[in-house]
Amino acid sequence: MKLTDLSKLNTKRRDALNSFGISSVMDLLYLFPRRYIDKSNIKPIQMVTESADPVSIVGKVDSKEVQGYGHKRRLEVYVSDQTGTLKVVWFKGWKYFMSKFKEGQLVSLFGKPKRFGRSISMAHPDVEVLQSRDDIEKYNTLLPIYPSGKPLSKAYITHKMIAEWVDEALNKLDVPEFLPQAIIEQHTFKPRHEALQSIHRPESQQEASHALERFKYEELFLFELSMAKIKQMQRAKAEGPALKPGPLTSAFFKKILPFELTKGQISALSDIRSDVESQTQMNRLLQGDVGAGKTVVAIGAALMAIDSGYQATLMAPTEILAEQHFHTIKKYLEPLGINYRLLVGGQKKSLRDDVLSDIAGGTCNMVVGTHAIIQDQVQFHKLGLAIIDEQHRFGVKQRTEMLQKGDHPHLLVMSATPIPRSLAMTVYSDLDISLIKELPGGRKPVKTAVRTDKDQETIHNFMAETVADGGQIYVVYPLIEESEALDLKDATMGFEKLKRRFPDIPMGLLHGQMKSEEKESIMSSFADGKLKILVSTTVIEVGVDVPNANVMIIEHAERFGLSQLHQLRGRIGRGSRQSYCILKPGQKLSESGRYRLKKMVETTDGFEIAEADLKLRGPGDFLGTKQSGLPEFQYADIVEDRLLLEQAKSDAWKIISRDPQLKLSEHESLKKIFTPYFKQRAEYFGIG
Ligand code: ADP
Ligand code: MG
Repeated sequence: MKLTDLSKLNTKRRDALNSFGISSVMDLLYLFPRRYIDKSNIKPIQMVTESADPVSIVGKVDSKEVQGYGHKRRLEVYVSDQTGTLKVVWFKGWKYFMSKFKEGQLVSLFGKPKRFGRSISMAHPDVEVLQSRDDIEKYNTLLPIYPSGKPLSKAYITHKMIAEWVDEALNKLDVPEFLPQAIIEQHTFKPRHEALQSIHRPESQQEASHALERFKYEELFLFELSMAKIKQMQRAKAEGPALKPGPLTSAFFKKILPFELTKGQISALSDIRSDVESQTQMNRLLQGDVGAGKTVVAIGAALMAIDSGYQATLMAPTEILAEQHFHTIKKYLEPLGINYRLLVGGQKKSLRDDVLSDIAGGTCNMVVGTHAIIQDQVQFHKLGLAIIDEQHRFGVKQRTEMLQKGDHPHLLVMSATPIPRSLAMTVYSDLDISLIKELPGGRKPVKTAVRTDKDQETIHNFMAETVADGGQIYVVYPLIEESEALDLKDATMGFEKLKRRFPDIPMGLLHGQMKSEEKESIMSSFADGKLKILVSTTVIEVGVDVPNANVMIIEHAERFGLSQLHQLRGRIGRGSRQSYCILKPGQKLSESGRYRLKKMVETTDGFEIAEADLKLRGPGDFLGTKQSGLPEFQYADIVEDRLLLEQAKSDAWKIISRDPQLKLSEHESLKKIFTPYFKQRAEYFGIG
C-alpha cells in the first residue's frame, strides 16, 4: 500500500508528508500522537485554578490583541466556554500565533494555569485549532493530537486528516508482528497491529501508555540485537596478536614506577592481560574518574605489546594532551631503552617524514599523538595494540580507522566521563568494561567555593599566599567556538591584569591559537614549576597532569557544563597539598547555572555529577549521541526506560547466542525487519 492509496492523499500532500520524514504508510502508522485530548477531562473554564499540572480546555476565541512595547510585547487571546473566559498569553512567537487565531474559532488548550493578581491565565499552552465540537465527540474518549510542523500546516494537513488516514490504513492493512512470540508473552505486550490501534485510538490514557511500552521496547530491542550481533562478530572473526608481559613490563612495574598501583589499576591490568593473551582481539573500555590513574595502565598494556615484538600507539584528542603523554612516556620508557615518537598535526615536514619512516620501518615501538595517527600516510610495521585516550572525544568511525592500522590489533579505549554503569553497558555494549573506582591514596578532596568580583582582593591575596607556599595556580577562561576571538580577549586581558598585579610572579598564557612549540614550551615550564600561574582557555580541560598545581580559578564558571567543570577541577587535587577550586560566575546566573555551581560545591564524586548532568542535559546531549554511536531513539528514553533497556539487552543476547543468523522459523519475521536495520548499523561501525 502506497501513501497515495489513502483517500484524499494527493501528491501535494504526499510531498508534504515526505518532507516531514514520512515516506510510507508504515512511517505514517509510526507517527504517534504527541498527546490526546481527553474529553472526560476537559475543564470548564470556571473551574480552572492555579495548578502545576497542565489542564485541558476547549473554547472559542473571543478576541486577540497585542499588548505592551519592546521586549514586553505579548499577544493576549481571550478564550471562553459556557462557564467563563480565560486569558491566554504568548510572549514568544506572538506574531505566529497572531496569524494562527481567528475570532470565533474553536480551540483546545493544554497548559499550566497561573494566578496573576485576581485572575487566572495561561502562558504558552499547547494549542490545537478544532474544526468543530464533533472533532471531539466523534472519538470514544481521546482525541489524538499529532506532531505538527511547517510542511504539514503549509499543505493544510490537519490532525483530523492524519487520524483518518491512520484509521483507513489500519482497517485495510494487517501489520505483521516481528517480535518473537515468546517475548510478546513474557512481557505481555500487545501484538503490533493491535498496539498501533491502541496508540492511535486509545479508550484511555493507560491503554495508550501500555501500547507505547511495546514500541519503546521494539526500538531498544532492535538496537540491542544489533549490538549483540556486532559484538559476536567481533569475537568470532578477530584473532588478535598473542601478547604477553615480558622483561620490559616487569622492569617498569618493579623498578621504574614510583608508586604502588591501586586495586582498580591492578584489576584493570589483569583484565587487559587475560584479553591480550587469549589471542582474541581485545575491545576494552577503561573507565575511571579524572585522576584515577588510567595512563599507567595504558603504559603497562603498551609494554605487553612491545615485549611481544609489536608496536603500540596512544591517541589523544588534543596536542597538549598528546605532548603530555609523550613526556610521561619519556620519563617511564626511556630508561627501558624503548623507542617512542610523537606524531601531531603541527610538525615540520622533515620531522614528520622522519617519524613516519620510523613507524613504518618498525624502529619505533611506541607512537603517541593526535588524530594525525589515523591519517592515510601513517603505516605501522606491526601494530599490536591501539589505545585511545578520552575516547568520548572521538567517534566510532575513528575507532574503526585506528583498528585498520594493523592486522586486528587489540583495542583499549579510555574515558573519564563517568556514566551510570547500566548506561555504560548499553552505550558501549560492544566493549568490555574495566572500572577504576578509587583515586590513588593520599589525595585530599578539592575544596570548592563560589566567589564573585567583590571578593577579588581576597582572591588575589589567596593567590599570593599559594605561590609563596610553593603551590601553582590555573586561571581558566571559557572558550566558546562561535566567539573564539572574543573569549581569547577575555583570557588575554585577564592575563595582563594579573601580570600588573603580580609583576614578580612568573606566569604564562595558553590558548588554542598558539603554535604547537609555543604551547608545549609554556606547558612544560608550568609542569616544571618555573611558571607559577597559568592563565588558559579550556585547552587544558582534558587530561593535563601537573600534580603540584593546587588552585584553580574558573572565570565565567556558569558557562561550563557540569561534566566539563568536573573535568577542569580534576586538574587539581592530584598531589599531597590541599587543593582549592574557586568558581567565579559572570553577571547573569540562570537557574540551571546556579544549580550547576551548587552541585560542584556539594560534591567531588564524578558519578554523582554525571548523574546530575545527565538529568540536566538529557542523554543525547550528555553522551554526544552522534559520537557515541547511539541512535536517536524515537520513543524510548535510555535514562527513564533503563529497565526496559536492560530487558531488551538480555532478550537480544539470548536470541543471538541461540540463533546468530536468525535462521529458526520463529525468527523469520524478525529477520526481515532486522536485516536492513543491521546493515545500517554495521556500516556505521565499519563492519559487514
Ligand atoms: P587519569 O585517569 O585522569 O588519566 P592520570 O593517569 O593522569 O589520571 O593520573 C593522575 C596522576 O596520578 C598522575 O600524576 C599519576 O602519576 C598519578 N598516579 C597514577 N596512579 C597512581 C598511584 N597508584 N599512586 C599514586 N599516584 C598515582
Ligand atoms: Mg588521562
